[in-house]
Amino acid sequence: MEESTSHRTFSEIQGKIDRGEVVILTAQEICDRVRDGETFELRDIDVVTTATSALMSGTYAVLSFKVAEPDTFTKAAKVWINSVPAQVGPCPNERIGILDLIVLGTEASKIDPGYGAGDLFRELVLGKKVLVEIETDEGQTLTSFTTLKQIPHAMLHASRNAFKNYLAFVNPGKVAVSTIFHSEMMKGNYEEMTFCGCGELNPLENDPELKTIGIGTKVLINGAQGFVTGPGTRSTADKPNLAGVADMHKMNPEFMGGFTTGHGPDIITTWAVAIPVLDKEMLTHILKTDAQIPLKVVDVRNRKPIFEITYADVWNKTNHEVKFKRELCLKCDLSHVENLCPVENLCPVKAVKWDTEKGLQFDRERCFNCGLCVSRCKGGTFFAYLGSIELEGVNHKVPVTLRQSDRMTALKAAQDLKLQIQKGQFKITEPVGKINFPDKP
Ligand code: SF4
Ligand code: SF4
Repeated sequence: MEESTSHRTFSEIQGKIDRGEVVILTAQEICDRVRDGETFELRDIDVVTTATSALMSGTYAVLSFKVAEPDTFTKAAKVWINSVPAQVGPCPNERIGILDLIVLGTEASKIDPGYGAGDLFRELVLGKKVLVEIETDEGQTLTSFTTLKQIPHAMLHASRNAFKNYLAFVNPGKVAVSTIFHSEMMKGNYEEMTFCGCGELNPLENDPELKTIGIGTKVLINGAQGFVTGPGTRSTADKPNLAGVADMHKMNPEFMGGFTTGHGPDIITTWAVAIPVLDKEMLTHILKTDAQIPLKVVDVRNRKPIFEITYADVWNKTNHEVKFKRELCLKCDLSHVENLCPVENLCPVKAVKWDTEKGLQFDRERCFNCGLCVSRCKGGTFFAYLGSIELEGVNHKVPVTLRQSDRMTALKAAQDLKLQIQKGQFKITEPVGKINFPDKP
């Protein structure tokens, strides 16, 4: 049967996948070709893979596992995992020795303010042993160790994830401010800019009318197959985000972790979403490049918009990956008793460590490419051009000093999803319910 030139169905596209005839491109591959002057018709693309990797505070885990033999204690009142507090419940645990717990992604360790639930979830996914401390309602304290393999139920839930891009932040005031949108005090007088959002790669940016993303849409969350469960909290038609769920046992640690902001630990989550291109209207959204996607610049003190730029200003002609050249290290703080590299304490994901014997250690897999080290490293060991933005009425260009989205990791997630579809490991699913975002929260 001749394929329609104006409309296709999910099953037609899945049929092409099954026959090995499908054309799948990542959103970035399409936009790169558009920038090179190529034009596309509906018949040229069947599926676009999209992704976003960013700080997504609305993330929590539901864990259920055995901590003791039945009747060892009556009831757990308080629980910590690797010193990170867990909410006991929602189900009671009387005398059974099995706990149901909820761990919020932004919780901080009671002993280390730089360690949070995002770090804990990553360590679990890495297969590391974690310490469980229980305070019973009778005042008894019990401890045990566990690993993700010993936790039969470990689901990561998203209550507010995968925003349709986000915002950029500046501080027009004279005084530096503490904010979740920076990992240090944010300098005043427009001395710097931070931002969030993966631009043209973003899932909701590619399907803003939600023709293919809905309740039950299969997605990858941190590399594990999961599902969209509905609209995310505080969603509006203007600023939508998604809720979802996936099994932590299948996750890839590369796509997740903790990230310290000015207000404590936050959590990195990565989504990849396949979008079957059903009609020409969808194609017009998919062909939009960073230069056509607005990025509001807001005052970090009150979130009021003061300028508008585009995602091209922050993602085009900039380095998405932060390069590391150990040979350029000046060992600048060797006089310090602890031989600390100034970047070590600064890195929001703890990817940099000064080892007294081995010297400077850099964990590439852990690095979020946020770029904060670039302006702070005196030797140029860490390098990337993050962009410098002209804002009307500001008499200097405003340098980007921190990115709270990682386009490199998002691209990898979109590429992984493309491969899984090509190999028949990921089936395109039609949503079972429509998501409608309200006009007001
Ligand atoms: S700040 Fe840069 S140059 Fe100095 S010790 Fe750290 S990595 Fe080396
Ligand atoms: S870019 Fe630098 S500061 Fe940011 S995560 Fe990587 S090493 Fe850490």
